[in-house]
Amino acid sequence: MIAELPNGKGRGQWQRVLFDEFGDSPHWSAIIRCPECGVHLPIPNHTIAADGRVTPSVGHPSGTCLWHPSSPLLLGWAPCPPNPEPRPFCDPCVRCGARARQLGGWGIAGGGLHCPPCMKAILSADSSGT
Ligand SMILES: [Zn+2]
Ligand SMILES: [Zn+2]
Repeated sequence: MIAELPNGKGRGQWQRVLFDEFGDSPHWSAIIRCPECGVHLPIPNHTIAADGRVTPSVGHPSGTCLWHPSSPLLLGWAPCPPNPEPRPFCDPCVRCGARARQLGGWGIAGGGLHCPPCMKAILSADSSGT
């Protein structure tokens, strides 16, 4: 079972990524790509030691693949940069006051910024009246 993984995008390699980028606690960790089945395995809550040793073991959520090293080693791992501060909130939804750190799915309706659920409610109300 391969458990020493070089840096890269291919099977059996790892990449450093920023998890929860638009959430309350952005933090650096890694994604490992399974050498057996090629699935991407994010490890946002694993511990990665200074030498790249990952604990606890890394398995598949689905359990369909047998690759499950007890403590894989990320070759070439370097200490992470400091975790960034959470993004500032954007303007709140004018309808319900919801706030978010990124505006994916948000829209402008009636001259104001609306969150995704409100946009959906507005659009369905419009279409039901015709
Ligand atoms: Zn796999
Ligand atoms: Zn809203």
